[in-house]
Amino acid sequence: MHYEGVLTKMRTEITDVVQYYLVWDNDFINFNQLLGKKISINFLKYQCLSCGLEKKIFRQGFCYDCFQSIPQAGDWVISPEKSRAHLDEEDRDLEFEKRAQLQPHVVYLANSSDVKVGVTRKSQIPTRWIDQGAHEAIEIVEVPNRYLAGITEVALKDHVSDKTNWRKMLTNEVLDLDLAEVREKLKQYIPEEAREYYLASNKETEITFPVKKFPEKIKTLNLGKNPFYEGVLTGIKGQYLLFEDGTVFNVRGHEGFVVELKVLV
Ligand SMILES: [Zn+2]
Repeated sequence: MHYEGVLTKMRTEITDVVQYYLVWDNDFINFNQLLGKKISINFLKYQCLSCGLEKKIFRQGFCYDCFQSIPQAGDWVISPEKSRAHLDEEDRDLEFEKRAQLQPHVVYLANSSDVKVGVTRKSQIPTRWIDQGAHEAIEIVEVPNRYLAGITEVALKDHVSDKTNWRKMLTNEVLDLDLAEVREKLKQYIPEEAREYYLASNKETEITFPVKKFPEKIKTLNLGKNPFYEGVLTGIKGQYLLFEDGTVFNVRGHEGFVVELKVLV
């Protein structure tokens, strides 16, 4: 089998184990079916996910110029507390920002090695948790806009991490925690404006990833530096492909890279 196209993050579906799909223009691959098989990845060129031009990717699949100008890459995306659409204030495109920010958002605890706090649109649950490689997660508050979620996250960050330790996540050095108990302890730090949205009774979501074997030591594949790789796929976790020789490939980190992908055996 032979595919060619621009990489975007893997689509997922939660069943007893997560199903992973790589979607091309006219085709898709279910990666779960490639476990145990040798595949090769060959980097051909860049293709910005916004302007479509062959320009070096800066961040999030966008070239530098697009990243600096399009509404999808505003500061409030990474820093939800900077959201201003609820005040009718424009960052780059107020209509876009209203659609994105003025909808239900969730502040959650996700455990991918240790517990961390995060923000996502409600419609992105459990996708966001899967993308982070969390084996368990729970909602803390569900609020009507991104700003309220952002200030809640900022307040909780003083008491719990907001980073994923991806090395531990990929080598499966993980703890099983009672997230409802952690939520209960954090409740007192939720800011006044968001307190009425506290979710006291939601249960933990458990997520199982399709991994036959976790690597012990990991080497990251960066196609910008090493444009060709070939290896046996042994697992998928978060947005990473895990290979038999310890190589890990962050698919999301390569959005906007045009590649040729072959399934060899
Ligand atoms: Zn561009």
